Amino acid sequence: MKHKIEGFLDLVRQRNSLEPEFLQAVEEVAETVIPYIVQHDIYHGKNILLRMVEPERAVMFRVNWVDDSGEIQVNRGYRIQMNSAIGPYKGGLRFHPSVNMSILKFLAFEQVFKNSLTTLPMGGGKGGSDFDPKGKSDNEIMRFCHAFMSELFRHIGPNTDIPAGDIGVGGREIGFLFGMYKKLKNEFTGVLTGKGVTWGGSLIRPEATGYGTVYFAQKMLQTKGDDIKGKTVTISGSGNVAQFATEKVTQLGGKVITLSDSSGYILDKDGIDEQKLAFVMDLKNNKRGRISAYVDAYPNAKFFPKKTPWSEPCAIALPCATQNELNENDAKILLNNGCICVSEGANMPSTKEAIALFQKAKILFAPGKASNAGGVATSGLEMTQNSLRYNWTRKEVDDKLKDIMGNIHDKCIKYGKDEKTGYIDYVKGANIAGFVKVADAMLAQGVV
Ligand code: NDP
Repeated sequence: MKHKIEGFLDLVRQRNSLEPEFLQAVEEVAETVIPYIVQHDIYHGKNILLRMVEPERAVMFRVNWVDDSGEIQVNRGYRIQMNSAIGPYKGGLRFHPSVNMSILKFLAFEQVFKNSLTTLPMGGGKGGSDFDPKGKSDNEIMRFCHAFMSELFRHIGPNTDIPAGDIGVGGREIGFLFGMYKKLKNEFTGVLTGKGVTWGGSLIRPEATGYGTVYFAQKMLQTKGDDIKGKTVTISGSGNVAQFATEKVTQLGGKVITLSDSSGYILDKDGIDEQKLAFVMDLKNNKRGRISAYVDAYPNAKFFPKKTPWSEPCAIALPCATQNELNENDAKILLNNGCICVSEGANMPSTKEAIALFQKAKILFAPGKASNAGGVATSGLEMTQNSLRYNWTRKEVDDKLKDIMGNIHDKCIKYGKDEKTGYIDYVKGANIAGFVKVADAMLAQGVV
């Protein structure tokens, strides 16, 4: 088996030698899915995984825009259309200086499996730009978004490819992007998700990724007869996912003690309650400030520059910032400090070595493609509401989100539970369940 997996990976490495994040994501899938393919004749000899690692289409384009001082700026825009076997391409847009082909291909590849797990008819894609929104005025953000969409609009559409937000792309950016798409196409359609609720957005969409990550942690804990109530929780990031993960943990009776951004983390041993979270939301979403300002408002808290929060003792860790933010050493410290559950809010935040340690220790570990799927699932619900020209209530959407997270958890058990030991390998479960649905559709559609 090792030989088969290595043979496949060698080919992928040769073709994508300059794309480490993409290779990391493919390796994790190959190690669990190839043994499954070998055991199931219908997938054998069809090169399905080889087809799945090649994007159906990858577009790269120039984005020219003028900054507030009248200088012409040039950025790169991308859209990776990875797989459309089970529905139109769907996945977020990331605006961050680190964006390149490797990062977007890893995100698009993970998205294919994640979207399949949601049970909704969505293929996988991802896009974005190396544009850095930090320090830009609202007018600069608007000009950039308009320039970006003036090319992207040719490649997307409500039945073709429906982008959403990701790092650096929130409600403000989706508004500017939607405005330019509507002007160019002269159509009001559900071409983007994460829209404002007065113009086609869904209630609970901003909350969905963070809430879903916590619902998934709750489901995992229930398999051990345990609960979030009374538990200490460390969270990284302070953006969209981290904020709503904090809100849901607090609502369920847990205590969140950390948040972070790329400059460091804050520790508040008293817990980040509703009122303190409102301060963080205003700081990050309106004032666009740094998390270090938290300690000015709450002097009992401490700020640790350039550090991640994983050295703080906790029962539950929710990495909600970015890829590879939790390494082997962090995992060792978390385990030594008694951590029993890790539910990934970000995409691929734990390194391969960290995951291996969590699995060896047999703690509850959920990969992002399962635990953070609530965001794209609710985007799928937004698409349905747009098609129906109807809005569901907050409770209706939240109930559907809970159901979907429960279904994803069930599928992880179906494909990931070891019947002898009872251990649930959520990585294996998510990869195989995500693969089967896409692979069956690809087989049915022939070699296209
Ligand atoms: P935001 O832009 O709202 O927030 C990102 C947060 O992560 C910020 O606090 C940011 O700090 C921090 N961060 C970003 N890059 C780094 C870095 N290199 N090192 C340390 N901290 C960093 O993004 P989201 O909350 O939307 O996304 C967070 C993660 O969740 C990403 O991995 C994303 O792909 C994933 N995700 C998001 C979904 C969504 O619906 N939004 C859906 C599914 C997954 P700073 O401000 O300093 O940059």
